[in-house]
Amino acid sequence: MNDEAVELLCGYIRLDTTNPPGSEYLAADFFKRIFKEAGIEYKTYEPKPGRVSIRAEIQGSDRKGPVILLHHMDVIAANVKDWSFEPFGGDIIDSHICGRGALDTKNLGIMQLLAFLEIKRTGLKLNRDLIFLATADEESGGDCGVGHLIRDHPDEFKADLVLNEGSYIISGLSQNKLIAMISPGEKGPCWLRLKRKGIPGHGSTPHGENPLEKISQAVNRLLNYELPLTITPIVAEYFKRLAADWDFLKPYEADGKPETLIKIIQENGLLAMPQINAMVRNTISLNVLKSGAKVNVIPSFAEAEVDMRLLPGQSMEEFMTFVRKQLADDQIVIEPISQYAGNTSEIDTESYRLIEEVLQEHYPDAITAPYLMLGTSDSRFFREKGMTAYGFCPAIIPLDDLKSIHGNDEKISVESMLTGTEIYKGVVKRLCT
Ligand SMILES: [Zn+2]
Repeated sequence: MNDEAVELLCGYIRLDTTNPPGSEYLAADFFKRIFKEAGIEYKTYEPKPGRVSIRAEIQGSDRKGPVILLHHMDVIAANVKDWSFEPFGGDIIDSHICGRGALDTKNLGIMQLLAFLEIKRTGLKLNRDLIFLATADEESGGDCGVGHLIRDHPDEFKADLVLNEGSYIISGLSQNKLIAMISPGEKGPCWLRLKRKGIPGHGSTPHGENPLEKISQAVNRLLNYELPLTITPIVAEYFKRLAADWDFLKPYEADGKPETLIKIIQENGLLAMPQINAMVRNTISLNVLKSGAKVNVIPSFAEAEVDMRLLPGQSMEEFMTFVRKQLADDQIVIEPISQYAGNTSEIDTESYRLIEEVLQEHYPDAITAPYLMLGTSDSRFFREKGMTAYGFCPAIIPLDDLKSIHGNDEKISVESMLTGTEIYKGVVKRLCT
């Protein structure tokens, strides 16, 4: 096995690419050095100073359209005092590579890099172009990263297949089996800022026009609405696969009816699991509330920010009509922060089957399943242009460690990193020869 993966990941983690500000040029320089040494040409893109993305390519014959290996170089902020190790130390502790980005998603970047380099080093003949793409700004919406690339350089980023972040092989979700996931889709955000003016005054004399009370009541009407359960195609297939291990899903496996699945989910208390709840319905989370400065003063203004996520296939327009109706306060001004639809790629494709096959070869007892991402990724930019994008990282991650993504003490075991790298190489070779 190859310790290059470990060394490279440790070095990559040590580059502080916290977004904001991003400073992805640090990571782009890291890749530039590697490409220079390997004699691989590359191109960089820098829409704003320091916000660099980098693309390298190995040409193949044109029998098939290109494959893009995509990952983002920026990471989310780490609050050092909440961590038990240095977030940008890139240290190995108890057989784990530790630091911000170890799971999201510098690990994947190194797997992709090594798959790419191996093809270059061995001179393997490819039947399609293979593109390595490391981008800026995913953690803040991608405007300085993939958003910019697709908008301003569309011809350089056309592909038959994009492999990106979005899923892992999870241990501990099922008692006996690994769940090897591939993510063909994600929910869409509907992030809103709500603003309400009112009448200021003395706290001793409430007058019924307190904007903080008004906005709280309105948001509560929204939060208290029980959103319906909807089984989308990815989630339908996910539970069909899990039925191999979760016996209570057998009636659904037998009849395949969404009503049956909904009944099982309700009767077995699965909605109490936040992940499953969010897989089967739109969600609403009130995350920011601003108003008032003093206990005895009625404020003149209140503001709330609400993070809502829509299942693929749901209409944003209809959802906004529902939101306005539930808020039931026409003095609330609604400002969109970010809104786009959930997005998916077909799973009935040759490349999906091929990835699944490789996973099954390595882990014959595992359950492979498509996974609906609850968060967002840069895949949506490609899916919006009609390209197929899958989230896929073949590293085994204990369910509990997923909390560290955007949380504290992010780490990946050395073994998962090494094995994942080997599997990734296998997938890329099979897809391109
Ligand atoms: Zn990520």
